[in-house]
Amino acid sequence: MRVEEKKQHRFRRLNNFDEVGKGFTEQDAKKEAERCLQCKNPTCVKGCPLGIDIPSFIKEIKEDSPFSAVKKIKEQNPLPSVCGRICHNENLCEAACIQGENAISIRLLERFCAEKEALSQTTLKKPKKNKKTIAIIGSGPAGMTVAGILAPYGYTITMFEAMHLPGGVLRFGIPEFRMSRDVVNAEFTYLEHLGVKIQKNSILGKSFSLEEMRDTYDAVFVGVGASIPKFIDIPGENLNGVYSANEYMIRTNLMRGNSFPGHHTPLKKHKKTVVIGGGNLALDAARTARRMGADVTMLFKRSFDELPAKRSEVVNAQEEGIELLMMTYAKQILGEGAVQGIECTPMMLGEMDEFGEKKHVPIEDSEFLIDCDSVIISMGQRPHRIHELQCYSNGSIMVDDQMRASMKGVFSGGDVVAGEPSLLKAISDGKKAAASIHDFLSGDMF
Ligand code: SF4
Repeated sequence: MRVEEKKQHRFRRLNNFDEVGKGFTEQDAKKEAERCLQCKNPTCVKGCPLGIDIPSFIKEIKEDSPFSAVKKIKEQNPLPSVCGRICHNENLCEAACIQGENAISIRLLERFCAEKEALSQTTLKKPKKNKKTIAIIGSGPAGMTVAGILAPYGYTITMFEAMHLPGGVLRFGIPEFRMSRDVVNAEFTYLEHLGVKIQKNSILGKSFSLEEMRDTYDAVFVGVGASIPKFIDIPGENLNGVYSANEYMIRTNLMRGNSFPGHHTPLKKHKKTVVIGGGNLALDAARTARRMGADVTMLFKRSFDELPAKRSEVVNAQEEGIELLMMTYAKQILGEGAVQGIECTPMMLGEMDEFGEKKHVPIEDSEFLIDCDSVIISMGQRPHRIHELQCYSNGSIMVDDQMRASMKGVFSGGDVVAGEPSLLKAISDGKKAAASIHDFLSGDMF
């Protein structure tokens, strides 16, 4: 049987923003690691987009060597403390584990190793500087990966961040109850120790142009993410009390609206909030609104089994009293000036579409109302278009297989290339881009 993670009590957690999952103790980790069969053909590795040597790092835990374990993980993943908390493990390595329903808790073992390393306070040697300079625009996971891989080679690296704190989506998108800010802060302390400079409040296209960056630095990496929210274009979306999930999360995670008056950026407390969407961001916004004191209902137009959010977080949300209304579509938001309710339509399965799947269609004349004073819309994001680079119609940057963008010396990766958020894609693009930048600066490319 899997070793279960201890969690903060469901009643207590509504009164704070502390991490819900407590991770593994030494004993838990050892017990869980003992269950790994050390498969000769480890299917879990095939399920990991970063290709971490999972059985080897688990073996190190078994043998009481968590530092060797974290070293093993870091050969492929520079951010184990982040992935150890928010990776989509249930659909990836753990879904591929040969033990099926009793799959090894790979994510929690990864978190355990990263926590051990963080506690050890090992003194890092400062790298010897070379003469080459790199600008990293955007300090989210893609930029952090590039900086973390290249700084030890001695490059002089400056990261430019639009906000007043670094971390991109890891800071403004992920609530503290899923990942403590200490984790993000520790990653930047590490990067700064390696000599990476972080320049905050610096916006591409306003504070500087891409051409200026390219002329000033030997190489430039653009990892500015995808942060323009998509809406659904229904009546009432402009009423007071309607938020995009992005805005709502920035107001709490970055502006600390939940800590007013300790911070000077209040966030209105609502009585009843309806969240539209079924992804992780929708769930994070719903759980945040719940902690802000609202009763919360989530609307999703497909079935429970089709919810894209992480299943363990869905369980947490249900424990916290969030109502999930599946197969329900938001027709219009009602109110005069401010939100007073939302009109919904139940859905059913209709005829097959061209992919052989049943279409979700509204059930006619079955509309119903939910009284609410706020609505959070979470229908995905897209990137800001960067006009100096060739982009696709959705604004995502075109790159080649070595993450080179259309301007010489400029590389890109992460959500601004993918067009939508994905932590593992950001890390894997960051790894590829770092290798290409290193080749480029060593004169092996072009
Ligand atoms: Fe261990 Fe599961 Fe991977 Fe086999 S598939 S090596 S049991 S984690």
